[in-house]
Amino acid sequence: MSEKKLPLPDERLLELASTLQTPFYLYDEKAIVENARHFKELFSWAPGFCNYYAVKACPNPTILSILGAEGFGTDCSSLPELLLSKASGIVGERIMFTSNDTPDQEFVEAFELGAIINLDDITHIEALDHAVKKVPPVICFRYNPGPERTGNAIIGNPVEAKYGVTSDQIVDCYRIMQKKGVKRFGLHTMVASNELDGTYIIETARMLFELCVRIYRETGIRIEFIDMGGGIGIPYRPEQKAMDLNHVSAEMKKLYEQIVVPAGLDPLKIVFECGRCITGPYGYLVSRVLHVTRKYKHYVGLDASMADLMRPALYGAYHHITVVGKQDQSLDHTYDVTGSLCENNDKFAIDRMLPKIEKGDLLVLHDAGAHGHSMGFNYNAKLRPAEYLLRTDGSLVMIRRRQTYDDYVSSLRFEGAPVAI
Ligand SMILES: *Cc1c(COP(=O)(O)O)cnc(C)c1O
Repeated sequence: MSEKKLPLPDERLLELASTLQTPFYLYDEKAIVENARHFKELFSWAPGFCNYYAVKACPNPTILSILGAEGFGTDCSSLPELLLSKASGIVGERIMFTSNDTPDQEFVEAFELGAIINLDDITHIEALDHAVKKVPPVICFRYNPGPERTGNAIIGNPVEAKYGVTSDQIVDCYRIMQKKGVKRFGLHTMVASNELDGTYIIETARMLFELCVRIYRETGIRIEFIDMGGGIGIPYRPEQKAMDLNHVSAEMKKLYEQIVVPAGLDPLKIVFECGRCITGPYGYLVSRVLHVTRKYKHYVGLDASMADLMRPALYGAYHHITVVGKQDQSLDHTYDVTGSLCENNDKFAIDRMLPKIEKGDLLVLHDAGAHGHSMGFNYNAKLRPAEYLLRTDGSLVMIRRRQTYDDYVSSLRFEGAPVAI
């Protein structure tokens, strides 16, 4: 069971929502920091352990700086993500650049920032060469195990995945880079997303450890680090249980001792790129009920829409909903909870059992701290919501203002713009 608590007492939240414009995102700094420390502590046995937080999960420099202060790095996939990392004070080998279908300019920027470049494809060796014209000190390859692994629902079957180097290409990739003079190497994979079964993570570690041994035997290269990717899920539903990371860590340690140590490859650094399980549970979308209506079903219409939180409409994802001040009432009403986009799938919940809801009620959507605000968009010219941080000392700060009409139309203003706005 995962408990769905609010980060603030009801009265304080109601008071805040009466002064701030809803909808807005709220993040809990204390909980994020404690969770980051706990994650690091779990793997303290692992040589050189680091989590490269996936910037796409929550690309806000305040959040990234908080994680940076806890020793985290960043996992970036685009030029703007690299720049956000830099703006958050995270540079050099504390950046993992894991991209796909990468433009030359992004390789150049990653190289100049001293990031670890994680190549997604054997042809990217030439692309990198062409773009930067220098030999990087360290290189990583993303491995796709193909039929060897089954993948999971979100990331899909590895055979169908567009990511990574195949089993028959991987050794050649290291050989080529070795010939070019690269001295330090990493090995990356990511075969699952939002996974709650720890077996996936343990089996990924086994696969990568064994592959390190194979690469060593065939090329003499000692891989410096394995990157387990992200993909550790969170219990979005109250009846789900978080992954047992104590167990995962203990099993990984056993495998390390069984596979890595006897092959003479100790120390082998272990890193992750988790985003969701670091900040996901500690971010909330706060929204006001605008309308409660009956058509052929009962509807609750919010001032938030899927432009603010896309996961339910995109993958039918569950986000728990708390009606502030009505936590003790029985869940005896069934509603579709909707947003205002001209899209019928703009629903945060379908047939959700909730207490009786009235116009003006305040709703909190839980587990929106990763892949929440960042997945938002501007369809129907909806303006993006503000983000607030509840600081460890109990104060509240704005960490991103609400988008304005002026922001929205700013890219329409350029030399020779045909329309004055
Ligand atoms: C999305 C992504 C992550 C983060 O995934 P989470 O589910 O947030 O842990 C890490 N690495 C890569 C390469 C990704 O694409």
